Amino acid sequence: MAYNSVVLVKQVPDTANITGQAMKEDGTVNRAALPAIFNPEDLNALEMALQVKDRHGGQVTVLTMGPPRAAEVLRDALYRGADRAILLTDRKTAGSDTLATSYVLKCAVERIGEYDLVFCGRQAIDGDTAQVGPQVAEKLGLPQITYAESIVSLDATEIVVQRAFPLGKETVRCTLPCLLTVVASANVPRPPSIRRMMAHKLAAIPQEYGAILERWDEFETEEALDSYLAQRDLRIPVWSGAEIDVDYERVGLNGSPTKVLNVNYVVLGGTESHEISPTPEGIRELVQELVKDYTL
Ligand SMILES: Cc1cc2nc3c(=O)[nH]c(=O)nc-3n(C[C@H](O)[C@H](O)[C@H](O)COP(=O)(O)OP(=O)(O)OC[C@H]3O[C@@H](n4cnc5c(N)ncnc54)[C@H](O)[C@@H]3O)c2cc1C
Repeated sequence: MAYNSVVLVKQVPDTANITGQAMKEDGTVNRAALPAIFNPEDLNALEMALQVKDRHGGQVTVLTMGPPRAAEVLRDALYRGADRAILLTDRKTAGSDTLATSYVLKCAVERIGEYDLVFCGRQAIDGDTAQVGPQVAEKLGLPQITYAESIVSLDATEIVVQRAFPLGKETVRCTLPCLLTVVASANVPRPPSIRRMMAHKLAAIPQEYGAILERWDEFETEEALDSYLAQRDLRIPVWSGAEIDVDYERVGLNGSPTKVLNVNYVVLGGTESHEISPTPEGIRELVQELVKDYTL
């Protein structure tokens, strides 16, 4: 049996490579100071969905909610093997907290229609809440398996999944359709394929047409480019909130009860260190020191 999957992916600031002030005074992220990357655990979620497709067949649809620039992660997903990508972008959703974000994503997943599995990363590296996956499942009325590390078995009605925690593993079974949040230890995401990169190099949202026209002189107008892309299934659909019947009262800053008021920087400075030799004397010296410090 073939399974259709939806993978929710987020473009996030690369928090490991900060080039300036990471946060603005109003508590929002200064995206200009941070390069944007594919949220790492979303790559694991995509890989798990692609493995289901490799084994059983079916379609993998990737969905992101974000600014037009987030089309970059959608193209990356197409290069890695996704069949379809959708960008959900709407200024009115800016500033959404997890409650509002999960509501919009739920409306979009419902619009996508027939699916057997929804995959999310466990957590995004910017907001760091790990709430969006479970909230989307609740709003869709789906059972959820969080911390998914591997799919043990999958059949027409049921999935068996191994979950991974710092203190152990757990195997659970669940009816389909269901939502999984995937951890980093699940797999090694496949790299983009050169063949797929060549095939999808022009995949774009209409907001990117101007930049393509500057680089490719065989297209004279945006209309010509649009019809070329549409014929080859390379036009990435862009949905607004209105197109997926979002209630605008429930999104953006107005629909978000959580406000980030302040972010404190914790700077871990280097402390005094000295080397202990790996000998019985060295170990004895270390133990005595720890006892003296009341650490042991
Ligand atoms: C510093 C900081 C602190 C924040 N603190 C809070 C807070 O305490 N409470 C709160 O409600 N909001 C908070 N936010 C806002 C939060 O980042 C947004 O609500 C965000 O849209 C989703 O939350 P998250 O990043 O924590 O995602 P998580 O819940 O960590 O994401 C889990 C998974 O959900 C999916 N997902 C998440 N966002 C998207 C998306 N836009 N498109 C597609 N899939 C997605 C991905 O698969 C992702 O791996 C904070 C933001 C910042 C920058």
